[in-house]
Amino acid sequence: MLNGKAAVVTGSTSGIGLGIARAFAGAGINIVLNGFGDKAEIEAERARIERECKVKALYSPADLTKPAEIADMMKMAESAFGAVDILVNNAGIQYVAPVEEFPVDKWDQIIAINLSSTFHTVRAAIPAMKARKWGRIINIASAHSLVASPFKTAYVSAKHGLAGFTKVVALEVATLGITINCISPGYVWTPLVEKQLPDQMKTRNMTREQVIEVLLAAQPTKQFITIDQVAALALYLCSDAAAPITGANISIDGGFTAQ
Ligand code: NAD
Repeated sequence: MLNGKAAVVTGSTSGIGLGIARAFAGAGINIVLNGFGDKAEIEAERARIERECKVKALYSPADLTKPAEIADMMKMAESAFGAVDILVNNAGIQYVAPVEEFPVDKWDQIIAINLSSTFHTVRAAIPAMKARKWGRIINIASAHSLVASPFKTAYVSAKHGLAGFTKVVALEVATLGITINCISPGYVWTPLVEKQLPDQMKTRNMTREQVIEVLLAAQPTKQFITIDQVAALALYLCSDAAAPITGANISIDGGFTAQ
């Protein structure tokens, strides 16, 4: 049923986005990869997906802080595949600092990538989804779309905003065969988590092991979620069985937000 559809997955050169892109390609979905990284490694991954999954895989280097580049990426996907049937807004960055020390440029960047880019991709994708009377939009939010932690003002604000945006669009397209949902993971072991360790060590004056313990203290299962577990949920949301699920914010967080 998903075979031959086309998906744009933002921030899919690493971590959760790459895991979702690989899982989608494995289900026969054509893919547009996006994100930063080593050009040769990205090309090798793109070619590997095409070869192993027998789908078409394209790459867009669009910088999601730039609306014109987002528009170009969506146009490129639409002209290659006729429509973006599935849109996964996954790209995200993190920065931790007390609010009074939070750098203004980091605030602007996090709001642009983690929140505003989704407005730009969604508004570009919806007309063709409407024409085909089918679409799936998945926004990778976070447990931090539901609860807060100190030192993450921009991230928590962006993720709460994403959850609100998702509900509004769900209401607007509810009768059109298009669903839009948030997936809200707890701590998943990815480069994003690894990269925030030095800052957290500095801010909290802790060792690496102590920071990991603090992170997992919020996660009752005491285990990181795997990329494959998040990707399997994204694939499920694309299925016919998930057609009535829209406007939801689905936690996959080891009990993080149950507390
Ligand atoms: P990651 O750092 O491994 O990947 C982030 C991706 O976004 C990369 O491909 C990167 O190149 C891309 N990216 C960053 N800035 C960009 C820009 N300006 N333009 C285009 N692409 C850009 O991170 P991850 O852990 O896989 O996180 C993916 C998403 O999952 C994020 O939205 C994050 O907030 C969310 N999330 C992660 C966790 C976790 O524990 N890892 C938990 C909850 C939510």
